[in-house]
Amino acid sequence: MKHSELFTKTRKEDPSDEVSRNARLLIRAGFVHKEMAGVYSFLPLGMRVLQKIEAIVREEMNAIGGREVRMATLHSSEPWKQTGAWDKVDVVFKIRSRTKKEYTVGQSEEEIVTPIAKKYITSYKDLPLAIYQIGQKYRDELRAKSGIMRGREFTMKDMYSFHETQEDFDRFYAVAKEAYLRVYTRCGLIAKATEASGGSFTEKLSYEFMVLTTAGEDDILYCTNCSYCANIEVSSQKEGEGCTRCKSGRLLSAKASEVGNIFDLGKKYTKDFSLTFKDKSGEEVYPVMGCFGIGITRLMGVIVECFSDEKGIVWPESVAPFRVHLLSLGMDKEANEWYEKLQSAGIETLFDDREVSAGEKFGDSDLLGMPWRVVVSKRSLEKGGAEVKRRTESESEIAAFKDLNNLLRNV
Ligand code: ATP
Ligand code: MG
Repeated sequence: MKHSELFTKTRKEDPSDEVSRNARLLIRAGFVHKEMAGVYSFLPLGMRVLQKIEAIVREEMNAIGGREVRMATLHSSEPWKQTGAWDKVDVVFKIRSRTKKEYTVGQSEEEIVTPIAKKYITSYKDLPLAIYQIGQKYRDELRAKSGIMRGREFTMKDMYSFHETQEDFDRFYAVAKEAYLRVYTRCGLIAKATEASGGSFTEKLSYEFMVLTTAGEDDILYCTNCSYCANIEVSSQKEGEGCTRCKSGRLLSAKASEVGNIFDLGKKYTKDFSLTFKDKSGEEVYPVMGCFGIGITRLMGVIVECFSDEKGIVWPESVAPFRVHLLSLGMDKEANEWYEKLQSAGIETLFDDREVSAGEKFGDSDLLGMPWRVVVSKRSLEKGGAEVKRRTESESEIAAFKDLNNLLRNV
């Protein structure tokens, strides 16, 4: 894509009404536009990042048997009253129509998915079933100071699974946990799975997936030696104590952000909606249900918090809007040839073809944060190619197109 075709522009000053690093950088770089506290629109560059993250999540969910759907966002209040969430869950938005009917907008979708599943699950042969979607969620959050990490409107992947037995749920739970860890690794992050208490209606254990960042709103304890991690809120252990799991590490405390959460919902919702199936002995029983969430927009915010420096964002290759940022310094014809070649090699490239100073192009390139910067200038051409630099490094090298292509192929 040519920069001149992007309608967004970068800005030099931080927005005055944002305290979080992710929102400040994403707004300055033109990835998102703030509508109001906790509500953001995603602009072309931001959309590309979201689509990359969503593609990773989609691949991993499909690989464990998830069936993608899109559930309605506008819900009648009835199923919410049926489960008790209408009165008990404080973040539920309540809408009254002109005909005085009550509605809500999805904040989680057990109330929608269970009646759908009820239509199709009749026998043990229909199980297990895992249904997921990637879509907008709405929550009446009190605090919205963490930029896109805590929205009143945000994007979530939510999956719901139905099982014949507790054993089958446990099997799937372990499979999903591994898939979750792969999602975060593929996004360039290291996530720890905590052991924490369940959600509003269950006493069962759940896993929270935590990424260490000072921008996080959770306090966790983690082991210096093994993968043990717990939310301080629920842990009986304290910082400095020895790890009870591996017996050799020590527990440290840190701020972290919850980028995903998986729950054993038991039979709460299947009972609320009288969803039963005929088991092998012909008896009508309730399936065990699980819920698996990933905060897509929060994940993007956490990536910015973890991968940025004083000059701007430093996108990991897997989620960068473009891999290459090609800058022309007064050599438009030659730079355009590089652009054509990069395009035909299938390398996603943002081409800064604007008529602005070299300083502005370099500054914007650091702010936007593509993994590779490729500069075509009179000097670079005299040396036999373009000046290639990774966003994470300070040294550049001269490369002919063939060398650049090889370099990018080997990453
Ligand atoms: P938190 O404790 O941060 O409020 P939660 O326990 O309410 O999270 P879930 O209901 O389990 O979150 O939602 C699944 C995932 O959606 C969370 O792990 C998180 O990544 C993301 N998420 C939750 N609330 C928000 C929000 N307000 N803005 C952005 N992402 C969110
Ligand atoms: Mg919450």
